[in-house]
Amino acid sequence: MREEPDTAIGVDVGGTRIRVARIASDGTLLERVVEPVKSDREGFVAQLVELIAQLQDRGSVAIGIGIPGRVDGEAQHILSAGYLDIGGLDLVGRISKETGLPVRIENDATMALIAEGRVRPGAGDGLIFMITIGTGIGGAALLDGHPWYGGGLAGQFGHIVVSPDGSLCNCGRRGCVETFSSGTALGKLIAAAGFPQDTQAEDLISRAKSGNVEAETLLATWALPLQSAIATLVAVADPRLIVIGGGLGHEMTRALLRLPNRSSWFGLPIEAARLGDDAGVIGAGLAALSAYGRSSEGQRA
Ligand SMILES: [Zn+2]
Repeated sequence: MREEPDTAIGVDVGGTRIRVARIASDGTLLERVVEPVKSDREGFVAQLVELIAQLQDRGSVAIGIGIPGRVDGEAQHILSAGYLDIGGLDLVGRISKETGLPVRIENDATMALIAEGRVRPGAGDGLIFMITIGTGIGGAALLDGHPWYGGGLAGQFGHIVVSPDGSLCNCGRRGCVETFSSGTALGKLIAAAGFPQDTQAEDLISRAKSGNVEAETLLATWALPLQSAIATLVAVADPRLIVIGGGLGHEMTRALLRLPNRSSWFGLPIEAARLGDDAGVIGAGLAALSAYGRSSEGQRA
């Protein structure tokens, strides 16, 4: 009889790197490997199998994989994954077959939110959202501690339109909040304002705090469209909490909190992510254990 406590292999596929880690049922990260991610279809699958094999041991009961893109969580199907050529790939089937373990996939923001929900007492109840600020803007929703997909793809908060005549977005429409308030958009604003190209969001916040009007204006230009999108989310769903994560989560939270609230009707129930870069890989392990662990609190609905 096996005596090792259940652990899961968590995988977080990021913009440039792939992280794979062994995760305990309390969310502790036990061991991790990080590599540049291979973007071609077969190279990616082979890399994933190889990295999982490095960490898989007798205690491993399941694998969770966070994908940067559109994932139908209900159907466990990848529709698209940005720069990665894995749209339509049966990743669950391929990785289960290669490793002999059950596999759970989710959008990467969903995985991060599962981990962030775990470290906040009481966050398992009701509706909470996540907005990730990175190259693009991602999102996720948890209802009573479980991913909430709506019809399958709910949570694509980067594609809330805040200006119908704005710039063209990858989704085919104009003026999505991603085109205004992502990391990519911030880089463009920094260049257009004449700041040195290596200026970081952190530098802008420091300058704004010391009274630099140009920095304050730039931060407001970056954060205001997201403030509008958040007000829309609150108007539609009134979540208990919106966690702001991703590589620029802390900076965006601070930029949002510097803005005046333009409406007494819609609050700003935001909080910066607490787990940093490890949230995705921890959440991926927890999602796998929740779905397939022996000691899981119950199978997902
Ligand atoms: Zn869009």
